[in-house]
Amino acid sequence: MPHEAVGQVTEIARRNAERVDTEGVFPAEAVAALRESGLLGLVLPEDVGGSGCGPVEFTEVLTALASACGSTAMIYLMHAAAAVTLAQAPPPGLPGLLPGMARGAVLGTLAFSEKGSRSHFWAPVSSASANGDTVSMRADKSWVTSAGFADVYVVSAGSASGAAGEVDLYAMAKDAPGLTVAGPWIGMGLRGNASAPMTIDASIPLAHRLGDQGAGFGLMMNTVLPWFNLGNAAVSLGLSAAANTAALSHVGSARLEHQHETLSALPTIRAQIAKMGISLAAQQAFLAHAARSVSEPDETTMLNVLAVKASANDAALAITDTAMRVCGGAAFSKHLPIERAFRDARAGSVMAPTADVLYDFYGKAVAGLPLF
Ligand SMILES: Cc1cc2nc3c(=O)[nH]c(=O)nc-3n(C[C@H](O)[C@H](O)[C@H](O)COP(=O)(O)OP(=O)(O)OC[C@H]3O[C@@H](n4cnc5c(N)ncnc54)[C@H](O)[C@@H]3O)c2cc1C
Repeated sequence: MPHEAVGQVTEIARRNAERVDTEGVFPAEAVAALRESGLLGLVLPEDVGGSGCGPVEFTEVLTALASACGSTAMIYLMHAAAAVTLAQAPPPGLPGLLPGMARGAVLGTLAFSEKGSRSHFWAPVSSASANGDTVSMRADKSWVTSAGFADVYVVSAGSASGAAGEVDLYAMAKDAPGLTVAGPWIGMGLRGNASAPMTIDASIPLAHRLGDQGAGFGLMMNTVLPWFNLGNAAVSLGLSAAANTAALSHVGSARLEHQHETLSALPTIRAQIAKMGISLAAQQAFLAHAARSVSEPDETTMLNVLAVKASANDAALAITDTAMRVCGGAAFSKHLPIERAFRDARAGSVMAPTADVLYDFYGKAVAGLPLF
């Protein structure tokens, strides 16, 4: 992992995180630092100028970023998810796209979720129809991280083939006619990541499609899913680690002066921080295991991919809740950075595939049933 670059970007993200959250503004300074750092090319192949790093380094970078600023980490995750997908099936009409992403000139994101099919991103209700060497597309995208700030959007639609269940993916530039930010982003957490709705009413060159006609579903399942689930789990655990660290520091220093002791002298508090620390350590170990399993796939990899996001998302809900609880009013009233992690951590489990959908998929997989 490029430790120096990660340290520098993380420090800038940390310095701006409180303001980004309070004002609900895009973390421009941290994203500018990411562009400069080379980290936007971390997981891209070396032949397009990337660093060629794998899932293990990727999750380590994301965990570090999320411990400083959840919004910056989510923006980075969506960029990386777009980058690996574009690298898997580069659109023939955009030869400069991957080198641009690798050198930090192009920030990417995914525009999958739709108003009609909600969190079931694999089933877009929007459609595209072929028209010579272009397709006409009409879509209502419900949440797009970095909306209006990303330079390239990987957008999904029902395939122009018209075949039921087939999906196509296209790359759209920020300034493509017909790609519009359709409203504001106001979230309880990740308040800086501009996850606004977007509409698409556009004519897109066929040469901007990723892969063959109908290849979108396979790209979603085989490329997006492993990288996104690992990265989303890493964000959950970075937020959890930040809450855990702040809580330990507080209970070890906040004093009950009349009893000549700190909060950590209370057995109930110690039991809570023990559970929090054990859960965090177990989740970190599972994330490292899942990342190695995606690097070196075997028959357990798909189960690990399904499990890692749900399990880290739910652990983050519990860990940040415990951190709030043991730190009392000091956490509730913003004296500590814990309530930001608590709010930011609520996003993971509702980001698609949601934790509950993943439990259902995992259950189907171990029961020998088809996922879809
Ligand atoms: C901060 C943030 C950033 C986002 N960024 C992006 C982005 O960059 N790109 C993008 O495409 N999308 C993005 N999304 C959208 C996200 O991935 C989900 O699609 C969205 O959060 C789902 O919300 P919904 O209200 O449509 O959920 P719904 O689909 O209405 O789900 C509501 C509840 O039903 C449950 N549920 C639904 N189906 C099932 C099922 N089959 N089995 C069990 N339970 C089920 C869900 O788990 C959830 O608890 C983002 C969302 C957030 C909050």
